[in-house]
Amino acid sequence: MISTPADCMASSQPEPDASMSDPCLHCGACCASLRVDFSVHETEELGGSVPQGLTVEVTAHTARMRGTDHARPRCAALTGQVGARVACGIYEWRPSPCREFEAGCAACTRARARHGLPALQP
Ligand code: SF4
Ligand code: SF4
Repeated sequence: MISTPADCMASSQPEPDASMSDPCLHCGACCASLRVDFSVHETEELGGSVPQGLTVEVTAHTARMRGTDHARPRCAALTGQVGARVACGIYEWRPSPCREFEAGCAACTRARARHGLPALQP
């Protein structure tokens, strides 16, 4: 499992109201493959935006999206069916790794492959 991959930072991922031409809306593989860790200061409890109930504490400095470290990872904020139609339930409030993850990067390709989806075409 990859932890907030530095080789794949994007602003994509499933936005509820985006155009249906956005491949992320039919994917969600990264949200159901990658461990999503970020600073505790991104949680709403410490002045950030990420809803506390969707996170778990990792260390005094690090929080994690709930569900992303499960044996079959799936972020607790992800709705829908991976590979069909999905949305991030906290799109406006998602943590920085999700904002920076880039569709089409190497980790995106690996996540899609894990769910039997082909790599995005450039
Ligand atoms: S794996 Fe890639 S295409 Fe799929 S939702 Fe994530 S960034 Fe988008
Ligand atoms: S917060 Fe949203 S974009 Fe980030 S992993 Fe969870 S469902 Fe995906």
